Amino acid sequence: MTIALFLGLEGVVGAEPLRLVSTTTELESLAISVGGELIVATHLIPAGQDAENFQPRPQDLARVREAQAVLRVGVDYDLWLDPLLQQAGNARVRRGGAGYIDASTDIALLDVRAGGVGPDDGHAHGRGNPHYWLDPANAAMITATILEALARLDPPNAKRYEANRLAFLERLDAKMGEWKRALENAPALIAYHDTWPYFARRFRLRFVGIVELRPGVPPSASHLAKLAREGIEARVGAIVREPHEPARDAQFLASRTGARVAVLASSVGAIPEARDYISLIDYDVRALAPSR
Ligand SMILES: [Zn+2]
Repeated sequence: MTIALFLGLEGVVGAEPLRLVSTTTELESLAISVGGELIVATHLIPAGQDAENFQPRPQDLARVREAQAVLRVGVDYDLWLDPLLQQAGNARVRRGGAGYIDASTDIALLDVRAGGVGPDDGHAHGRGNPHYWLDPANAAMITATILEALARLDPPNAKRYEANRLAFLERLDAKMGEWKRALENAPALIAYHDTWPYFARRFRLRFVGIVELRPGVPPSASHLAKLAREGIEARVGAIVREPHEPARDAQFLASRTGARVAVLASSVGAIPEARDYISLIDYDVRALAPSR
């Protein structure tokens, strides 16, 4: 009896962790690096699943309904979140609410194009390439946006959130030098989907072509033949695909160009080694690094 009463009282004191729901596993990981044990973070898209084909399930609606904060990629990557937010009727996390966090807020986007994109183009890259979290330097911006939101939602713990973020940035900084050195002299690459421009810019990698002509649309035979010619000319070292992307086209290009296939992950949990944000980047760097 005494114990039950004690636990009951604890809950009233306000030690309840803040409930944050993110759309992706990598944003969840970045939120945890700021929130630590002060938050309970969950994600909506199952690890390793193609974000563009995601359909929210009933339990997702329930989680958004109870959330104190919702964290999204934005840039049209997780557009399905908007109807979910509408349905949930939770004013805290609706656009403009104190708990609504768009991680792309302070990001300088790449590949911003004018003009619209058709409805059948998968997750469109029309407003800019949405895979910005793959530049580790952008993780500093994303965690700054998360910090601002958590400090706003939970002012008494603002200093702890700030300290957590600084500790994370120190770990990230220590890795950055190692990653840059590992990718010096990396060969030219071809990717299945245009996932890697931010990663490539940070680590000076050259992608000579993309298998999908448009995001979400499989390639034509003539496009593949052209890519194979360009790949041979550029002496590509690897054809990059993710676990959820078809193996056949990457294999075809590898056999034509003499390159190897490198399976990379753009999201935490897509492969077992990518347990959190830093081990995700770590895995990708190792998968691409030329052997010495
Ligand atoms: Zn994409």
